[in-house]
Amino acid sequence: MKIVMLGAPGAGKGTQAQMIADKYNIPHISTGDIFRFNIKNGTALGKEAKSYMDEGKLVPDELTVRMLLDRVSDEDCRDGYILDGFPRTIPQAYALTGELGKTGDKIDFAIDVDVPDENIVRRMGGRRACQSCGSTYHVEYAKPRQEGVCDRCGGKLVLRDDDKPETVSRRLEVYHEQTQPLIDYYKKANVLHSVDGTCDINVVFADIVKILEG
Ligand code: ADP
Ligand code: AMP
Repeated sequence: MKIVMLGAPGAGKGTQAQMIADKYNIPHISTGDIFRFNIKNGTALGKEAKSYMDEGKLVPDELTVRMLLDRVSDEDCRDGYILDGFPRTIPQAYALTGELGKTGDKIDFAIDVDVPDENIVRRMGGRRACQSCGSTYHVEYAKPRQEGVCDRCGGKLVLRDDDKPETVSRRLEVYHEQTQPLIDYYKKANVLHSVDGTCDINVVFADIVKILEG
């Protein structure tokens, strides 16, 4: 089962992707998490990505596509995966479709988590992310068991640099310009499904499970 999560930054893609990954035992691949891992470890890729991320812009397609295709060629992706934050541009979607097509494969489900812009800014200000494993929480809607500490790995929870209000509005603009057209792209491929991302986390999850299990 190969799944793509679509939706604005802060719509809940990562939250749902992690729950799906746990339920179906497939890897959760977040390009944002891979970039942040590289930034933390001071790699050349991290240095290049950081300048774009700090400004709320997208990292160039060439770099992002190479990194993602490399990751999905790993052994643990053989039976499927869930992509969170990729593709984010039409050229990225073409690259993924083209690569999968080489072996007669394709994306099975593209799930659009729909949340209006007005809800997003509030969500992002309250988001806390684990510095170690990337899991996300919310100070109000998805609290960790112990404040500031990740339930999954015990790592420290922080406000991401790019979740500050100025950067969030830039990221929303970028989303509407470059990523929203993917909804049409996957609609034409007959794999698009939408869920109402303003509902409670568990309600959104139940809706997604219904879609995946037909
Ligand atoms: P994305 O991966 O799309 O950027 P996240 O999954 O990180 O978004 O969610 C953004 C923030 O909103 C997080 O703090 C998360 O805990 C919270 N959140 C996610 N889904 C919901 C929901 N259905 N209702 C309320 N808050 C949510
Ligand atoms: P995310 O964790 O998905 O919110 O991504 C954080 C940031 O990483 C984005 O604002 C982009 O700067 C960068 N990024 C993540 N995924 C991609 C992608 N597929 N294409 C380009 N940039 C990306």
